[in-house]
Amino acid sequence: MPKHIVIVGAGPGGLCAGMLLSQRGFKVTVFDKNAEVGGRSRPLKLDGFTFDTGPTFLLLKPVLDDMFALAGRCSSDYLDFVQLDHMYDLIYDDRKLPVYFDRPKMRAALDQTFKEGSGAYYRFLDTERKRFAKLFPCIKRDYSSLSAFLSWDLIKALPWLAFPSSVFHNLGQYFLEEKLRLAFSFQSKYLGMSPWDCPALFTMLPYLEHDYGIYHVRGGLNRISAAMAKVIEENGGAIHTQTEIQSLIIEEQAVKGVRLPDGSEIRSDENIINADFAHAMTHLVAQGQLTKYGKQNIDKKDFSCSTFMLYLGVDKKYDLAHHSIVFAQDYKTNIDNIFNAKKLSADFSFYVHNASVSDDTLAPPGQSALYILVPMPNNASGLDWEQQRHNVREATLDNLASRLGLTDIRTHIVCEKIITPTDWENQENVYRGATFSLAHSFQQMLYWRPHNRFEELANCYLVGGGTHPGSGLPTIYESARISADLICKQHKVRFADSGQDVWLKQGREPT
Ligand SMILES: Cc1cc2nc3c(=O)[nH]c(=O)nc-3n(C[C@H](O)[C@H](O)[C@H](O)COP(=O)(O)OP(=O)(O)OC[C@H]3O[C@@H](n4cnc5c(N)ncnc54)[C@H](O)[C@@H]3O)c2cc1C
Repeated sequence: MPKHIVIVGAGPGGLCAGMLLSQRGFKVTVFDKNAEVGGRSRPLKLDGFTFDTGPTFLLLKPVLDDMFALAGRCSSDYLDFVQLDHMYDLIYDDRKLPVYFDRPKMRAALDQTFKEGSGAYYRFLDTERKRFAKLFPCIKRDYSSLSAFLSWDLIKALPWLAFPSSVFHNLGQYFLEEKLRLAFSFQSKYLGMSPWDCPALFTMLPYLEHDYGIYHVRGGLNRISAAMAKVIEENGGAIHTQTEIQSLIIEEQAVKGVRLPDGSEIRSDENIINADFAHAMTHLVAQGQLTKYGKQNIDKKDFSCSTFMLYLGVDKKYDLAHHSIVFAQDYKTNIDNIFNAKKLSADFSFYVHNASVSDDTLAPPGQSALYILVPMPNNASGLDWEQQRHNVREATLDNLASRLGLTDIRTHIVCEKIITPTDWENQENVYRGATFSLAHSFQQMLYWRPHNRFEELANCYLVGGGTHPGSGLPTIYESARISADLICKQHKVRFADSGQDVWLKQGREPT
């Protein structure tokens, strides 16, 4: 009889783990409370428009390709990838920087936009390439025990952790102008962190964009989750949507399965939790059952920021890049309001996803699906979002007009949806509405982030943004690979991962 694996949550982590384990002969059953798979990366469909709910940037595509290869598949048989040469536009108060994958175009753009120009660009790439090559093996490791943590990989990587420097500070070794540093540090927001607090090792994020590119998937990044779900079903696994798990069945500090709201029980051999980690620990396990991750200790953790989301179906095309990042005029104050003062800013940064420029499947002809993300304090702010919802919508539309020239936007909206920080918490089961999960501060990383083999309960594994290695699709897929590998080891099933990342880029840029 194959061992039965129950997975709570059909987000990217749960689906990827399910794909890897079903391929290795395990009986996989996935439960998700939503009607569609994908979690924070599921599609949002409104009146003929399709939006990605969350992820829109696919970084480090080779990791995704590896996951499909480990499932005996080729990712391009399931997904239609579009690499963006014009990766994004950065809009400052006084200038605009188009950011390209193509090296000569990127150098020219830097030379035209900044006094310092592109002088240090290749040095940045060379150094950060070395850092990534040293760090990636550490990211991929399991840290379920101290001996696993104290590895040769980690010892070799120690000098590259650049502890306790921040991304913004680290960039000072290449770039002096603050606005130029912003072009290579705003990516800390992908982790829901401030560039001034985000550990320097995450300078790997801008590096990855420039060396491995940014991808879109036709139909939206939500298609990746749909493709993984398809593989699970092809392998005989079952996915139950619209099925919320009420609690874990725990006997003698081991998880024996899950309980549905009607009291029925599904028994299993191993369990994988993909629901947001802090939410799961505080909602699926009875109070008092956990120590290290009991509610009191969870509340002491650092959490990422939240986001206000505005999805607009509009009946026209705008002259906007696929991705535009607009910086608040006073960027530092906006960051301080989000992360420290935890209050709203009149002048705020935001991001616009206009994927209809490169994908005609997302909106009716001549129309566009616009996704606007405004970073916000998480719900530790105590902000009343029922009261703020309308004001922030209006301020966002005003900013689309004043900062991006979409002056007629209000007259072209044909449908819309808003997600506020309280919606993330109450409807999407995201603790504190912290959309990028536990913060990635030094004290909450590697050995100090929730381990993939859960420390407090047996037969329980963790995947997803709130666990090791962290938030973001490639790292979430890695969490799935680590947990699937651990389960295979436990049951003496061959995982067959060569561990060789043949795609890792080596060598120096020509100067
Ligand atoms: C707005 C936004 C933008 C983002 N942009 C990017 C990006 O551009 N690139 C990138 O790489 N990453 C991005 N991310 C981060 C990350 O990739 C996504 O959040 C990703 O979806 C997280 O995956 P996950 O595996 O942690 O699971 P989640 O997506 O959180 O899914 C967990 C699932 O568990 C389910 N669940 C919860 N509780 C229960 C229960 N009791 N019973 C049953 N099911 C339950 C939920 O319904 C959900 O489907 C973004 C995130 C957000 C929110």
